[in-house]
Amino acid sequence: MDAISSAAPPCVCCGQALRAGLEKWHQVCALCGYESAQLAPAINQAASHQKVDEARRDTGLKSLRELNFRQLLDRIGQHVAPAGSRLLDVGAAHGWFVKAAAGRGFSALGLEPDRAVCEQAQRTGALVREGFFPDVLAEGEQFEVIVFNDVFEHIPHSDTLLAQCMARLAPGGLLVLNLPSSRGIFYRTSKLLHRFGAGAFFDRLWQKDMPSPHLHYFHARNLTQLSARHGLTLVDSAHLASIHLGGLYARIAYVKSGLRWLAPLIWLSIVAAYPLVRWGAPSDIDVVIFRKRAT
Ligand SMILES: [Zn+2]
Repeated sequence: MDAISSAAPPCVCCGQALRAGLEKWHQVCALCGYESAQLAPAINQAASHQKVDEARRDTGLKSLRELNFRQLLDRIGQHVAPAGSRLLDVGAAHGWFVKAAAGRGFSALGLEPDRAVCEQAQRTGALVREGFFPDVLAEGEQFEVIVFNDVFEHIPHSDTLLAQCMARLAPGGLLVLNLPSSRGIFYRTSKLLHRFGAGAFFDRLWQKDMPSPHLHYFHARNLTQLSARHGLTLVDSAHLASIHLGGLYARIAYVKSGLRWLAPLIWLSIVAAYPLVRWGAPSDIDVVIFRKRAT
């Protein structure tokens, strides 16, 4: 591994200088465990979309997402009454969470920057606005709940983003982050495989070369440290299942190029490991809920 020059950026969570990671584009914080990637997003660019089989991705993710969204809404409902509460889903994709939240009684709005995905969500009747957070919100528009479902880790400047969340949260409002955990069994396994020379699974978890790669890997504790600097207090944390056997094959096979021929083998390995992952191994998805002060 090459040593990073004195220009190494500080960790966004704790301020320690980041160190070289497993790839040139990957850096880690030895103090708090935060991980960063210099991977370029390519939203609304046709070439990267051609690498993804959208129909297969929908099938692959839907059953897992629906299950997780029900559990997530149960969790949110323990901290805020849905009736009369405005909920914003940033990066709403197909609008599944917006519709589920509206079904619970929230006044729910989604934002989605990818035009084609947004139009698809709107056709299903989900209330989704095209564009980026917070650019397409009206002046002074605020919410009792702001949710990022697999989105926070895709946005470059976490400090700026949290400041924008603070401005858009009503007093006492909740920020809900649902995101991959650097402590999860799959992520740890991918790093182990990388050390043995097999880096494809590691690249896949960072979503390298895909339309919107991951730029950060956090876990609940360093996220709490980061959010505290912005005046957000942790009120709840939980784990969600990162795999569900229904739709798993489609989810593995949705990347068209590269190692797609390996999909059957990967599927078999995950099915074999499923009991371990389901009962006891550290989950790859963290949910953390923070509250803005009421005054
Ligand atoms: Zn750190």
